[in-house]
Amino acid sequence: MGEVISLQQARRARYRRRLALAEHAVMHPALRWVTGEGDSVAHRRTPAGATACGVQGPLLLAAAGTGRCADCYPGARREPA
Ligand SMILES: [Zn+2]
Repeated sequence: MGEVISLQQARRARYRRRLALAEHAVMHPALRWVTGEGDSVAHRRTPAGATACGVQGPLLLAAAGTGRCADCYPGARREPA
């Protein structure tokens, strides 16, 4: 038999989980970032909001298939740009 909890309590718990997910979504390791329109490789983001390799610029989500920065992803095979 399931545990009986109030609907309001369940809603509050779900809301807190969604807030936590939204706060951490930007740091998901699967996300890669470019530092502007002219950037040809995708970088890894640090918790401070910069690229791991130190390239400056506004971080935008990289398009799927963008090659990886060799400094941010050492050991990763170069993907075609
Ligand atoms: Zn990089």
